[in-house]
Amino acid sequence: MTPTVHDVVFRAACPDCRGRFELAAAALRLAIGRTARTTFYSFTCPDCGAAVRKPAGERIVELLTGGGVRTMRLHVG
Ligand SMILES: [Zn+2]
Repeated sequence: MTPTVHDVVFRAACPDCRGRFELAAAALRLAIGRTARTTFYSFTCPDCGAAVRKPAGERIVELLTGGGVRTMRLHVG
């Protein structure tokens, strides 16, 4: 069973309002830098509107890209 992109939701939490929610792939952005330190994902909190940015490890990158999250490759340095 391979889930389709439309079925995938990602659990996320907001550090500002501490809200917990599920986000569709379209609500997330992934930025892949040259190192783990510059690789992160971001989203806008649906509860308080804060722009949240969190580091993305290898596993998270796999999950997000596999789930159809829009990915941006950073070419820094
Ligand atoms: Zn929030």
